[in-house]
Amino acid sequence: MTWCSAGLPEIMDRLNHPPRLMIVSDLDHTMVDHHDPENLSLLRFNALWESYYRHDSLLVFSTGRSPTLYQQLREEKPMLTPDITIMSVGTEITYGEAMVPDKGWEEVLNHKWDRNIVAEETAKFPQLSLQSETEQRPHKVSFYVQKEHAEHVMKSLSACLEKQGLDVKIIYSGGQDLDILPQGAGKGQALAYLHKKFKSAGKLPLATLVCGDSGNDAELFSIPDVYGVMVSNAQEELLRWHSENAKNNPKIIHATERCAAGIIQAIGHFKLGPNTPPRDVVDLSSCKLENFSAGLELVKFYILYERWRRAEIASSDLIRNLKDICHTTGVIIHPSGVEKSLHESVDALGPLYGDKQGKNFCVWVDKVSSAQICLDAWLVKFDKWELSGEERHCCVTTVLLSSKATRRLGSVQTGWCLGEQPKKPLALDA
Ligand SMILES: [Mg+2]
Repeated sequence: MTWCSAGLPEIMDRLNHPPRLMIVSDLDHTMVDHHDPENLSLLRFNALWESYYRHDSLLVFSTGRSPTLYQQLREEKPMLTPDITIMSVGTEITYGEAMVPDKGWEEVLNHKWDRNIVAEETAKFPQLSLQSETEQRPHKVSFYVQKEHAEHVMKSLSACLEKQGLDVKIIYSGGQDLDILPQGAGKGQALAYLHKKFKSAGKLPLATLVCGDSGNDAELFSIPDVYGVMVSNAQEELLRWHSENAKNNPKIIHATERCAAGIIQAIGHFKLGPNTPPRDVVDLSSCKLENFSAGLELVKFYILYERWRRAEIASSDLIRNLKDICHTTGVIIHPSGVEKSLHESVDALGPLYGDKQGKNFCVWVDKVSSAQICLDAWLVKFDKWELSGEERHCCVTTVLLSSKATRRLGSVQTGWCLGEQPKKPLALDA
């Protein structure tokens, strides 16, 4: 098992079987709700994904944003790290956290495409004004054009480029943006390309759910056999496309919930797997799986921690419960290198009760990956994020989890040893 996905081979390697679910989601107004300052539905989705899906499924973000604007969004919103990122309206595909570009896709897009010719020909149209440098990509040239000129420009430009031997797609959206892409580009074709790739490796996802809100997402819904959700806040242009082209397709729904909450709703509607985010559960001890899941244990732990700091749980229980599940000889290693006993650290939480009450404070985990090291122990690595007011911190964290079935009270206890950026293996629950 590898820790994180640096590229496609690593992703393939991580998946022992075809992925159970592949979610391909647009970002703005789909995964990310710009009208939800507390990011509640995004955090619910994150908790759901890391608890039940991260280990055997694939998360794909598909956005019109260029890499620069995509990174900007990641800094603004509590987004997970996807396995695959499709950017610039399906013209760039990258893998893993390192965002390793797919060179094969670049070659596909080179067919009947010449950026220099596009630049020369578009220069002849004074109605076009070039968008910022960050939005100009190897297979995407982007302009602004006023509505009244759009139709005429698109027609003439299309004829000019065809005469030059190019085969392009001109997309006008939002009443101002004009993108010129190779004909084979787009969110839909990028997904079809990925499906082909996974199929040839014998790892075609068992189910794919595409999620979108606007016109350039329509292509996603045309890919054969996918489930689709148009979030409740989807724009008229997508709904119109649906009513004209896919009205009778039972695999596509228009959710009644906004953005990420609509995605969660669709997972339930199509019965694609668990769809109750642990964040929705008051009594977290009732939130269990038949088989041990490191992701679920961690998500629950940090939700409890968040609720403690926000005084959303009773002050009486947490410390005692945590001590019950933390191994007596466990240590926590702070990023500074300082070692502390796990039980001491739990005691230190005491005075923090309610210190974030009514404040903008949340905690989430990203990229949970685990390796079973013996019958009842797992070494788990993840990024722990904490947002407090405007400040955001990430800790690369490693935990040794051991699950021990005890006969006492007929319950199953989970032992914890925690470390943040450990420099050496942590104390084992031998
Ligand atoms: Mg969108």
